[in-house]
Amino acid sequence: MEYKSTRGNIRVTSIKALIEGLAADGGLLVPVEFPKVELNLKEFMNKNYNELAFFILKNYFNDFDENTLLNCIIKAYDDKFDTKEIAPLVKKDKFYFIELFHGKTLAFKDMALSLFPHLLKEAKLKENIKKEIVILTATSGDTGKAALEAFKDIEGVKIIVFYPSKGVSNIQKLQMITQEGENTYVFGINGNFDDAQRAVKEIFSDVQFNEKIAKRGYVLSSANSINIGRLFPQIVYYFYAYINLLKMGEISEDEYINIVVPTGNFGNILAAYYAKKMGLKVKKLICASNKNNVLYDFLREGVYDARRNFYTTISPSMDILVSSNLERFLYDACGEDEEIIRNIMKDLKELGYFSLPENYRDSLKDFYANFADDDETYFEIRWAFLNLGYLIDPHTAVALNVYKKYQKDTGDDTKTIIASTASPYKFVSSVYKAITLKEPYADEFKLSEELSKLTNTSIPKQIIELKNKRILHNDVIDKEEIYNVINDLLKGD
Ligand SMILES: *Cc1c(COP(=O)(O)O)cnc(C)c1O
Repeated sequence: MEYKSTRGNIRVTSIKALIEGLAADGGLLVPVEFPKVELNLKEFMNKNYNELAFFILKNYFNDFDENTLLNCIIKAYDDKFDTKEIAPLVKKDKFYFIELFHGKTLAFKDMALSLFPHLLKEAKLKENIKKEIVILTATSGDTGKAALEAFKDIEGVKIIVFYPSKGVSNIQKLQMITQEGENTYVFGINGNFDDAQRAVKEIFSDVQFNEKIAKRGYVLSSANSINIGRLFPQIVYYFYAYINLLKMGEISEDEYINIVVPTGNFGNILAAYYAKKMGLKVKKLICASNKNNVLYDFLREGVYDARRNFYTTISPSMDILVSSNLERFLYDACGEDEEIIRNIMKDLKELGYFSLPENYRDSLKDFYANFADDDETYFEIRWAFLNLGYLIDPHTAVALNVYKKYQKDTGDDTKTIIASTASPYKFVSSVYKAITLKEPYADEFKLSEELSKLTNTSIPKQIIELKNKRILHNDVIDKEEIYNVINDLLKGD
């Protein structure tokens, strides 16, 4: 399987794509062709997550021999997850939640980041790369920790994470600044996720800088969903959810389903779109945003306008105005026309907006989009607890709210899967406030205990362990300093 750039005629193997992250021309890498899979459903109903993952992913990473890939998968989805099912499908009343937060860091980013380091290690071996790989990561809160855990103390790799210092939950921040490992570097920035992502992407496409650090023995890569190693493993759980619906007798063979995804950088929902392209029976992809609702406007109107207020919300992992992975969808929507993408991305960079040409707006119909503000999000957390007996995090609550809006707007009662993307304990202050209608106090460990008693749910051990960890990463920098910080860290010996 070869990958090509959305912006030009670069072509690379999957192995090179894993290592390089972004295409050298600044575009994103997409498969030259999408594999169609025939799921023999009866057969797959008896298979576990790993077997399904192998079946899907061997199409995308076929430069590895099958045993290598299978071993990577087996090492990824093991008892790091607190359930054998890896991504359980939970039915509450008429709602189906696929829980994607059972990995090490309690958010769905673990689903791909448990696998990615193993793939990268094999890729490095295969390409005979002696250089140290430097993983640059911009995070809106969850990718950072998941990537740090995934790459800590892995030989031949350094990982550098930039998070918005005022834009993440306290638990998210604590998780990152207490990160152990000789090869981990964490910086808060005075700025938001978009600032961090922009700076990091510019460094990737800075040819001079890349040549300079190559001489010092380093090569850059990314753990953001711009990397195919982050994106494609996310396809697996949509197939898995479908098979589970069948197993539970909730749908019949070939029945269509909808998928709701709380969306920020458009990675997780793009994976669902790719699952549909591969043949999964999906009717609507429902894109749920918070008050940063740029995708809602775009999917309805075809105009993407990032010239708007940036809001800090209680679903911080979706506080994003420039959704990187949309470029991959646009490429598809425009019939893979690189020139259109180059123009569109130039407009976005220089003018702050772009308009998708009218004749390419057809595929927007695959999506329904809406958004929920913070009040609606609080309401939904409370509603789900009181009516479903189910505790959800704010991101999942945004998805639930938008799903209800979809049903109201369309009357569609197709069975629908809601992506549940984080543990409620990662956002304990907001969840506490929603459940008790009281202002949360500062001590989040105490809040967790109170919430646990009130809701009869258990606090994940990762949160309890956090309490006694030492703070190891104190630095907060201006966004203009990102380049220099990286340059300094990668000084030749
Ligand atoms: C990252 C994240 C999202 C958004 O996912 P994208 O792939 O960026 O669209 C939603 N919820 C949580 C909890 C996340 O960590």
